Amino acid sequence: MSESKSTLYDVGDGMAGCGPIFPEGGFEKNSLRKQVFEHVRGNGSVARSDIARALSISAGSVTGIAAELIAAGLIQEIEDPDREITVRGRPPVALAIVPDSFHVIGIHLANERHSAILTDSIGTVLAETTHSACAPKRPVSDLIDEIILLVTDLLKIAGMALNQISAIGIGIAGLVDHTTGTVAWSPLLSEANVKLAGTIEARTGTPVFIDNDANIVTLAELWFGGGRTNSNFAVMTVEHGVGMGLVLNNRLFRGARGMGLELGHTKVQIGGALCRCGQRGCLEAYLADYALIKEAASALDLTAIGTEKNTMERLSAASKSGDPAAQAIFENAAKYLILGLANIVQLFDPGLIIVSGGHIRYDNLDNIDLGAEAHKLTLNSNINACEVALHAWDGLVWARGASALALSAATDYFTRESR
Ligand SMILES: [Zn+2]
Repeated sequence: MSESKSTLYDVGDGMAGCGPIFPEGGFEKNSLRKQVFEHVRGNGSVARSDIARALSISAGSVTGIAAELIAAGLIQEIEDPDREITVRGRPPVALAIVPDSFHVIGIHLANERHSAILTDSIGTVLAETTHSACAPKRPVSDLIDEIILLVTDLLKIAGMALNQISAIGIGIAGLVDHTTGTVAWSPLLSEANVKLAGTIEARTGTPVFIDNDANIVTLAELWFGGGRTNSNFAVMTVEHGVGMGLVLNNRLFRGARGMGLELGHTKVQIGGALCRCGQRGCLEAYLADYALIKEAASALDLTAIGTEKNTMERLSAASKSGDPAAQAIFENAAKYLILGLANIVQLFDPGLIIVSGGHIRYDNLDNIDLGAEAHKLTLNSNINACEVALHAWDGLVWARGASALALSAATDYFTRESR
């Protein structure tokens, strides 16, 4: 028995102690200042006594931290909208964020159109712009010029200067290492392993943070959408490709090397349909817009295609007017969508899955109980089905998510104890 124990548990090879070993500085240290600031921002306005109760800290601590945040110009006292005036006649006071305390920019870089927004510290959009993208696969210097043009345009619309911007968040399709700000590969770039964040930082003198498309959509849901009240939720995006984002314990999960959660390239058929990644049988080869367009070209007279969006609109119109071939294409895609949802449930058991993307405008998914259908493909038949919500986004959702990257970084900076 003791021998078997030694074989099983001696993997530390003589290391002292037990338990997981965290890297130095690797703990997530949410200072009380940050917790108070985020609690106020999350609630819009909140009384000091409610903050103390919610964060399980003393009234004295809240008073001290609030005084520091007020002195730093980050929060302010307002008349409490939720409480009656007391008999002594003093209006009750709540704390709220000072919206102008800092500003950020969120940028989404895409194949056809780039979009960008400028927001204040509570995410109010003060300016927005979209630019046509240059030809795909450009060198990084060209993409940076496009980014600088977006920023310049946005600042002009807002009547602000670059030195008033605390952080820039950027979302881009591809394999992105958020920690190092490196784009390992992107369909927008002819070069690989590009240190995009650092290069733009050097050009603008402003801190820059980047992440991939699916992560910024998930951040948009976490900060501004249906994920705000869910600690554990997933987002499945269906558009040109199929992506996924995951929030665990109210934080975005990014994996070890920034290449996880590629739901579109999980295999659903060995030796199946050819995917744009070069491999066969990937989920998105049956579900993404490009896959449906390929089907449409052989099943319908949709060979004279324009843009992907135009073709999807024509295919959708044919389906809705009763064309059986078009309907069959969407019905088949829905089966793969449900398969993808079931696999997410089986792997992560989220409290909610948000299916997001322009694509869902085209399907008749409102008529299908996606949660119930996915539930049939999982082992969990004795518990309730996972909730599935559809969210057809507008064009700014990507930039909103990118702005959340910047808001998050600026919040860390402004609420540091050492400031
Ligand atoms: Zn693939």
